[in-house]
This record gives sequence, C-alpha cells and structure tokens, in this order.
Amino acid sequence: MSDTSAMSPKTGEPIISVRGMSKYFGDFVALNDVTLDVNRSEVLCLIGPSGSGKSTLLRCLNFLEAYDGGEVRLNGDLIGWQDGDSTPRKALSTNALRQQRQHIGMVFQQFNLWPHLTALENVAEALIQVKGLPKSKAHEKAREALGKVNLSDKTENYPANLSGGQQQRVAIARAIAMEPTVMLFDEPTSALDPELVGEVLTVMKEMAAEGMTMVVVTHEMGFAAHVADRVAFLDAGRLVACVPPAEIFSQDPEDERIRTFLQTYR
Ligand code: ADP
Ligand code: MG
Repeated sequence: MSDTSAMSPKTGEPIISVRGMSKYFGDFVALNDVTLDVNRSEVLCLIGPSGSGKSTLLRCLNFLEAYDGGEVRLNGDLIGWQDGDSTPRKALSTNALRQQRQHIGMVFQQFNLWPHLTALENVAEALIQVKGLPKSKAHEKAREALGKVNLSDKTENYPANLSGGQQQRVAIARAIAMEPTVMLFDEPTSALDPELVGEVLTVMKEMAAEGMTMVVVTHEMGFAAHVADRVAFLDAGRLVACVPPAEIFSQDPEDERIRTFLQTYR
C-alpha cells in the first residue's frame, strides 16, 4: 500500500467549522452557502479572483463582519452567537466577542502598528491591555514572540525605522504573543516590495512547521503550492474547491474557473 499521509488533510476534530455561510451586501451575494472545515495544525490557503469574497470570509470567521446565514464554530463553540437551542440565536455582547477573538490571531495587508510604540511595546500592548499581564511579563513574552519572527535585534525600533517586511513580522509577532488557537492572514505580503516578501513567507512557513493552524488568503501561488495542506478556491462567493494543492496546481485543473484564474499566474 502506498503512503498517502502527506496528501490527506490533517485529521481530528476541526478547529474551525463553517456551515452554510451566506453574506449579502444589499442584493449582492458576497458569500453563497460556504461550508468548510479547518483541521488542527492545518494550513489552508484561500485563493480566488479579486472580489470573490476571500476577505469577507476571513472577516466573518471572527465575526468582524456579521453574516446572514450559517454558522462558524471554533473548537465547537459558536462564534459571534450565543449557543443553545433558542431561536433566533442571540448575538454576543462586545465583551464576550472580545473574549472569543483572543483565540483568533489576525494579520492584515496593512500592518497597523502604533507609530509611537517600539516593536517590543507594539507586541506587548495587547498582552497588557487585553490579557492583563504585568508589564515585565508582557515584555518577556513579547521578546519571545519577536524572536520567533527573527527580530530579536529590532525590539527597540519604532515602526518608522523598520522595513515593510520587518513591520509585518512585528504584526505577526503581536498575533503570536496572544497564543491564538488559529491564525488568519489576509494577503500578508501584498503591500510589500517584492524583495521583502520572502522574509515574511519564511516566518509563516516556520509557524506552519511548528503546527500552527493557519488560514491564509494569498496571491503567492508558490506558498499555496508548497506550504498549504489544502487550497480553497472561491469564485463569486462560492467555494468551488477545497483540495490538496496538487489538484489545483496540476497542469490541467478540472474546473474552468480555476484554469482561467491560474492562467494569470503563469
Ligand atoms: P476579495 O477579498 O476576494 O477580493 P472581498 O471579500 O473584499 O473580496 O469582497 C467581495 C465582494 O463583496 C466584492 O464585490 C466587494 O465589492 C463586496 N463588498 C465587500 N465589502 C463590502 C461592503 N462593506 N459593502 C458592499 N460591498 C462589499
Ligand atoms: Mg481581499
């Protein structure tokens, strides 16, 4: 029997479970009945044309965007809603939502660092404000997180004195320091000069190798092909495929929409 373990998705209870998610902006259908699981330690890359709903899906995962149908569970717990059998379900209070979001790290295209804080202080901020850690403990954890993104020598730099790639790595460290259950990335390298993309992807590869569960919206097809366990393809709000990368990046993918999309990268 051949060994297919490298091809099959990592198994066990899903960390994130999306069921029948729909999202409208007025009459416009941004997400159309999306059902998707993300397993523990899995790297799921989300690709698709501009406007296909990738960012909307990521934002709905942690309820930054309220959705119109379906549900999301993180480790079995409903996100954004109160569990229980009462219908209609009750949306959570802001405080309860904030609690839930602590378990979900998010990294955006724009780094959104505080300009008046050093790299170390940027990473320590949420540990102090949200987790309530004392400053010394927060700084210790921040130093550790900055080490993981290979920035131990830049802890005292302000964002203005860091390159774009370094700033994005600080933003990643800020998320890591919160010890999230899952990390969501929305085009983390799209705002970077081409020569700075590699250092950010390297850090993400290292996180994947350490077993972090990751959902990554990306246009870096090399990363999707080589690091993802599965690749999800969205088109016009529909999940067209969610399969091992080899099936998407084969010479002749089955779906016409995937073929057309990938042609722009060849
Ligand atoms: P992607 O990230 O795949 O490029 P988005 O999720 O940002 O796509 O957007 C999907 C679609 O939803 C796009 O057509 C976009 O114009 C629309 N959209 C996104 N956010 C809003 C909004 N707040 N109001 C109206 N339309 C929106
Ligand atoms: Mg987007």
